[in-house]
Amino acid sequence: MNNRLKKISTDRYTWINASRNVKVCPLRFFYPRNEEDIQLIVREAEEKDLRVRAVGSGHSYSEVAKGRDYLLSMKFISSVALTQKAGLKQAWQEAHLATVGAGTILKKLTRSLDRMNLALSNMGAVDFQTISGAMLTGTHGTGITRPAVQDMVRSLKMVATGGEILQIEPADGITDAANFSSSSAIRLIQDDDTFYSVILGFGAMGIIYELTLEVEPQFWMKEKRYLVSWAELRSDLLNGSFMTKVRNTDFVAFRVNPYEVKGEHRCAVVEQEVIPFADRPRGFGAFRRNIFSSILGNLEFLMENTIVKTNLKPDGVRKSINLALWATQDMRFSGKSHELLYQSGEAVIRYGISSEFAFPAKAEKIVEVMEAIFAQAELNAAEGGVYQSAHIPVRFVPPSKALLSSAYERETAYIDVPLLFGTRGDIDILERYQERLIGLGGIPHWGKHNSRLYQHHDFIRSQFSRTDDWIRVRKALDPKGTFLNDFVIQMGLAMPDNSTT
Ligand SMILES: Cc1cc2nc3c(=O)[nH]c(=O)nc-3n(C[C@H](O)[C@H](O)[C@H](O)COP(=O)(O)OP(=O)(O)OC[C@H]3O[C@@H](n4cnc5c(N)ncnc54)[C@H](O)[C@@H]3O)c2cc1C
Repeated sequence: MNNRLKKISTDRYTWINASRNVKVCPLRFFYPRNEEDIQLIVREAEEKDLRVRAVGSGHSYSEVAKGRDYLLSMKFISSVALTQKAGLKQAWQEAHLATVGAGTILKKLTRSLDRMNLALSNMGAVDFQTISGAMLTGTHGTGITRPAVQDMVRSLKMVATGGEILQIEPADGITDAANFSSSSAIRLIQDDDTFYSVILGFGAMGIIYELTLEVEPQFWMKEKRYLVSWAELRSDLLNGSFMTKVRNTDFVAFRVNPYEVKGEHRCAVVEQEVIPFADRPRGFGAFRRNIFSSILGNLEFLMENTIVKTNLKPDGVRKSINLALWATQDMRFSGKSHELLYQSGEAVIRYGISSEFAFPAKAEKIVEVMEAIFAQAELNAAEGGVYQSAHIPVRFVPPSKALLSSAYERETAYIDVPLLFGTRGDIDILERYQERLIGLGGIPHWGKHNSRLYQHHDFIRSQFSRTDDWIRVRKALDPKGTFLNDFVIQMGLAMPDNSTT
């Protein structure tokens, strides 16, 4: 191994994901500073017949990032700049584009864009992830017309097998191929199947070091969060009025207590709308989210205390979830896009874990699934004395073009089952939900806890109609299997015939 590689790496390193349920001691852990470093790592690995994997900020609860041979932290490949327009097609000259280092954390990205008066069109509930990690597992927020992370990407650069650098775009990509320099060390690929496989490809085709995103001018939003009962929400879902609201409001989500208290399941609805800056609410409380949810959500001891209490007196969790939903009510919060799209407490990094499932965005299906969750929560409590320690969020996402997106070409409702990690029976509770909801056609999120999917290759193939195309692209880009890992193999995504070798 040459001196440069020694300098940017360490051995005897144990990598652990943020929720501490996935752990690995790779042969070597690298901190590349640029694409040349990544090229050296890939060539060195291929000479030794080893595999290469990158990690973002380790916020996947699944084993998607686990790499046993060479593992790379992307944290030093972090930058945000306006995209240079030279070399782009005429149609993209006026577009808002940002070119971002793959390891850029969303928090830095949204703040840097803000300084340029730009914004992401949407984001997930938190901003701890890297842009590449978020894209590669299909991270989404809510808003039936607002794209998931992978659908904001217009071009990417990746170190592939042999250390070759590829620039990958859809067939009608932003780069003017006719004027792309033939002397460039970068090979331009403009092909739909390749692009829509790589963007949601778990890093199993190469190491991505740069992304170009379509962004928009910074926008102001207002938010209201209010309580309703499940009976009311159920009726609004079934009579169509709630889905009309989902369609007519920029961002809508709801959260439900899986347990009944005094004969009803409490729900909190969140509605967020883009508003002109001049129309923003003013006065006390208008620029701060409800004090209970913003402060209490960040107190780690409160989370720890809740876990201890849930384990000692588990039945009390029914009321604690009601209280937590009550505390989120707010009718006049407004702010910049990233301030409102951020929907969670900081402490959730250390104490959250979840499984999340994609279903068609149809009211009847949502009602069926919610009621199955209520039944499973009661069954877990009655038979095993184990309890769900958080509410159930439901979010709405537009169709995605990524071949392995669980929202591929259909409007999708994502139903999350989060728990406080450390709650008694946490992983087993999630696995029971996985079995039940897979049975209802729910597609588990690639980045959330999803280990039951390892046993359901037929289900994966039935839900992802383009699986074989994704596998074909992966094999063409990575014929030696350099970028495979156990996750891809165990999901049955390594070989077209579903064999695991
Ligand atoms: C508290 C919390 C809240 C969350 N909220 C949401 C949410 O609201 N919506 C949602 O959809 N998901 C959510 N998630 C899931 C999370 O967004 C995804 O799992 C995301 O992939 C994590 O990003 P990361 O940077 O930590 O990537 P990692 O988990 O580190 O990696 C994800 C994948 O990307 C690969 N990878 C990363 N960077 C590169 C690269 N540069 N080149 C090649 N491969 C790479 C890794 O090998 C791995 O396969 C949440 C997770 C947590 C912990």
